[in-house]
Amino acid sequence: MSAFDYRNGRLHVEDVSLAAIAADVGTPFYCYSATALGERYDRLARTVAPSGAAIAYAVKANGNLAVVELLGRLGAGADVVSEGEIRRALAAGVPAGRIVFSGVGKSREELAFAIGKGLHQINIESAAELDRIAAVSEALGATAAVAFRVNPDVSAGGHDKIDTGRRTDKFGLPPDEAIRLYHAAAGLSRVVPVGLAVHIGSQVRDVEIFAKAYGRLLDLSARLRSEGLDVSRLDLGGGLGVAYRDGERELPLDAYAGLLADVARRSGARLTIEPGRWLVADAGVLVATVNTVKQAGERRIAIVDAAMNDLIRPTLYDAHHPVWPVDRNEAAPRHPSTVAGPVCESGDILAVDAPLPDLGAGDLVAIGKAGAYGAAMSSGYNGRLLAPEVLVRGGEKAVVRRRPSHDEAMALESLPRWSSAADAA
Ligand SMILES: *Cc1c(COP(=O)(O)O)cnc(C)c1O
Repeated sequence: MSAFDYRNGRLHVEDVSLAAIAADVGTPFYCYSATALGERYDRLARTVAPSGAAIAYAVKANGNLAVVELLGRLGAGADVVSEGEIRRALAAGVPAGRIVFSGVGKSREELAFAIGKGLHQINIESAAELDRIAAVSEALGATAAVAFRVNPDVSAGGHDKIDTGRRTDKFGLPPDEAIRLYHAAAGLSRVVPVGLAVHIGSQVRDVEIFAKAYGRLLDLSARLRSEGLDVSRLDLGGGLGVAYRDGERELPLDAYAGLLADVARRSGARLTIEPGRWLVADAGVLVATVNTVKQAGERRIAIVDAAMNDLIRPTLYDAHHPVWPVDRNEAAPRHPSTVAGPVCESGDILAVDAPLPDLGAGDLVAIGKAGAYGAAMSSGYNGRLLAPEVLVRGGEKAVVRRRPSHDEAMALESLPRWSSAADAA
C-alpha cells in the first residue's frame, strides 16, 4: 500500500495529505491514487502479455469518468453492463472497438444503442437476447459480433452474493443451449458469432477455479469447431481476487497468467479478460470524520459521517475493510472499535472491531481498499448526498466528482399536480 502512507504521522495519498483534502471538500469523500491505478494496470498488462489477452476493465467496479479515462489511456478496453456504462466508456475516450457489452438482461433499446455504436462484442445470455440482437441489427442494417456466455457450473467460492457461475445462478447459458444458439446465430445474416464467454463471479483467489471454468470453455469451443463453426475469441471474464485483510492472499498473478497463456495456446483464440476489482480496489480510500464514540454493551462504537450508502460491501457481503486513523500516534494504545455510520439501520457498519486508538469527535479515519464497488454502489439513502471523489497524482489533486447540493439531489422530483389543487381547495 505504498500510495497510502504516513508522513510525519499523517496519512497521505501520494504527496497529498488526506486531512488537507478533507479541509477542502469536506467529509465523507473517496480518494483515489492515479499512480496506484496506473501501476496496477501496468503490472497486470505486463504479466498477461504472453497470452496476448486484451484487458477490458469492468466499469461497474468504479465508473468514474476520470478512472475509466486513466485506464483507457493506458490501453484498457471496457466491459460494460448497461447503456449508461457504454456512454461512460465512450465519454472517457475508450474506443467502441474495445468495448464488450455484458449483462444478463439487456433491453432492446440498449442493444440498439450498442449495435449502433459498433461495439467490439456483445455477450449473449439468453435466447431472447439473440432474437433481439437479430431484429435490431436487421433494422439498423448493422452487423453485431456476438459471444455466448456459458454457465460452467463452477463456484467462484468468494461469497454467495458474488458467485455467478453455478448452475442455478441467473447468469449465462447452459452449455447445450449455448451450442444450439451458436448454430442459430451462424445462420443469421447480420449476426456474427465470434466466440464464447464466461464469468464465474468475483474474488477468485485460486487459479484452479479459473482453470476448471476455462476448461469447460475449451471443451465447448472444440466441440463447436468440430461442428464446423468458427470460434476466434474467448472472453474469460473478471473476478481476479484481491486481499482485504492483512496476510490474506491475492490471486497468484503469475499462475493466472500461465493459465491464460495455456488457454491461448490450446484454443488459438484471441483472449479477453474483464478485471474490475483487481485494478481499482487497492487504489482508493473512503475518508470520514468521527461524530462520536459510544459504548454499547461490551462494544466500543465510533459513529462516523460515512455510512452504508457510501460503502455497502460490509453489510451486503460481510466484507472486511481496514480502517486507519488519519493522524497516527504510534504510542497510543489501540482498542477494538466498531466503525458505524449514522444511517438508521443496525446493518450500517463499515468495520467490526477494527484496532483503533482512542478517537474523538472531529478525528478523521480512512477506510481502506474502497476503490472498487464503493462509490459505484453508493446511494442517497437517508437523504444523504453522494460523496465526492478526488483523484490524486503526485502532489496534485482533482475533484473528479463533486458533492451535489441538496437542491440538486431533489431536482428530479416533483409534487403531483393535484397536491397544489388540494391546497387551493
Ligand atoms: C462484475 C463483472 C466483472 C468484474 O468482476 P471483478 O470481480 O470486479 O473483476 C467482469 N465481467 C462481468 C461480466 C461482470 O459482471
